[in-house]
Amino acid sequence: MRFDIITIFPELLSSVFSAGVIKKAIEKGLLEVRVHNLRDFAHNKHRQVDDRPYGGGEGMVIKPDPIFEAVEKIKVFPETAVYLLSPQGKKFDSLIARELAKKPQIILICGRYEGVDERVAQHLVDGELSIGDYVLTGGEPAAWVIVEAVARFIPGVVGKPQSVVHDSFFDGLLDYPHYTRPREFRGMKVPSILFSGDHEKILKWRKRKALEKTWRLRPDILKKKQLSLEEKRLLDDIIKEGIKNEPD
Ligand code: SAM
Repeated sequence: MRFDIITIFPELLSSVFSAGVIKKAIEKGLLEVRVHNLRDFAHNKHRQVDDRPYGGGEGMVIKPDPIFEAVEKIKVFPETAVYLLSPQGKKFDSLIARELAKKPQIILICGRYEGVDERVAQHLVDGELSIGDYVLTGGEPAAWVIVEAVARFIPGVVGKPQSVVHDSFFDGLLDYPHYTRPREFRGMKVPSILFSGDHEKILKWRKRKALEKTWRLRPDILKKKQLSLEEKRLLDDIIKEGIKNEPD
């Protein structure tokens, strides 16, 4: 699995993939991340990649020609996914991340200034991706976010595959709450069930807590989930009893 990121500020991304899980994945050969300087694909005297907008108006626009050339040079496979990062794009989420993790290569194009000449969105890419309804000054933080989220779904990247399965959104629920030492901190206690040694009870408690958190914090995703019979029963109990304050 290979990521190719096209940017005019490669230095912004030089350190973000050299630590933690992503660094290990790269070292293990599970993932390759190449950052390309868009200016290397500009053929004018000053390696200029932006120009004034036709029709007037403020700011500069990234030119189409270096981007087309970069993608044509970098693209290896017919199945390669090419995305323009844009606040106008489809909202990136866990489902898209899982789908993208099946691709052999993903090319991400980072815009700047007023954005990228529209012909890139219309005639070059497979789609536009946004990381949220706000405007960044450039696509680089979005590229980082997408690499992180997709990489977690590449087998072997996260040491324990169960961690990914239990993560928020994987099965339409938020993750259950986690606790570690100390058992009591400033009067705040860890729920006693976690010391019971009864794994079945703990599993059930975690499922209930995941449902409870999702119901409380993200009812929108709960509405989309197909609940099992057990989950329906638990949710009915939660709604009837209300959310219990920890610890129990
Ligand atoms: N004028 C554009 C608009 O309002 O749609 C915004 C341009 S923005 C200042 C510059 C670049 O940052 C964009 O071309 C895009 O690559 C990136 N960008 C900004 N917000 C983003 C977001 N929410 N998700 C992904 N990329 C974003």
